[in-house]
Amino acid sequence: MGSFTVLDHPLAGDLLTRLRDETTGPADYRSLTRRLGRLLVIEATRDLPTEAVMVNTPLEPFEGSRLATGLVAIPVLRAGLGLLDAVVDLYPDAVVGYLGMERDEETHRPRDYYAKLPPMAGRRALVVDPMLATGGSGSAALRYVKEAGARDIVFMCVVAAPEGLARIQEEHPDVPVVTAALDRQLSERAYILPGLGDFGDRLYGTV
Ligand code: URA
Repeated sequence: MGSFTVLDHPLAGDLLTRLRDETTGPADYRSLTRRLGRLLVIEATRDLPTEAVMVNTPLEPFEGSRLATGLVAIPVLRAGLGLLDAVVDLYPDAVVGYLGMERDEETHRPRDYYAKLPPMAGRRALVVDPMLATGGSGSAALRYVKEAGARDIVFMCVVAAPEGLARIQEEHPDVPVVTAALDRQLSERAYILPGLGDFGDRLYGTV
C-alpha cells in the first residue's frame, strides 16, 4: 500500500481552517493556498536525493549538500494552479507541466483534455490537485504522468477523502500522497465532507 502523510503542524491547521471557512473570499483564498502549499511542498520533497558538495565559507572549507534531482510540477487544471506558485517559490528551477482532466459525460470516466508535459527522466514529478475526492481524476492523472515517463512521483493535495486515498493507494501503490487533511467521507455528490466546497470556485471566485 502506498504511503500517505497528513501535515501535522499548527501553521497548516490554521491555514486550512481559514480555507474551510465559508466567509473567506478569493483574494485571501489564493494567499492562504499559496502559504499552505509551501508547507505541503516541504513535506513532498523531504526525501529528495542530495549529493555532497564542497564550498568555502569565508572561514574554511565546508562539505554541504545540494539537490541531486530536478522537480517537475504538474498542476491538474484548474484548481491545481492555485498550488503552483508554492512549488516555484521554494524551487524556482522547477519545470512545469499542465494536465487538464475532465469527466466524460458519456462514460462518466475522467479523461485528459489537455496535456503539456516536459521530460521526466531524472526529475521528481509533483502532481498537484487540491481535492482528492473519488480519486478518479487523480488516478487518471498519475497514469498519464507515468505513461509520459515519470518514475519518481508524489501526489500533493490539500484535502483527501478516505475513498480517494484508498483508490490511489490501490491503483498507484508506488506514489506517496501528501495532504493537509484526511477528511471524513464523500457526500452523495462526491464533495468531501467536511471539506471546503469547490476548491476551484473558491480560488477563482466563480461560485
Ligand atoms: N472537488 C472540490 O473542489 N471539492 C470537493 O469537495 C470535491 C472535489
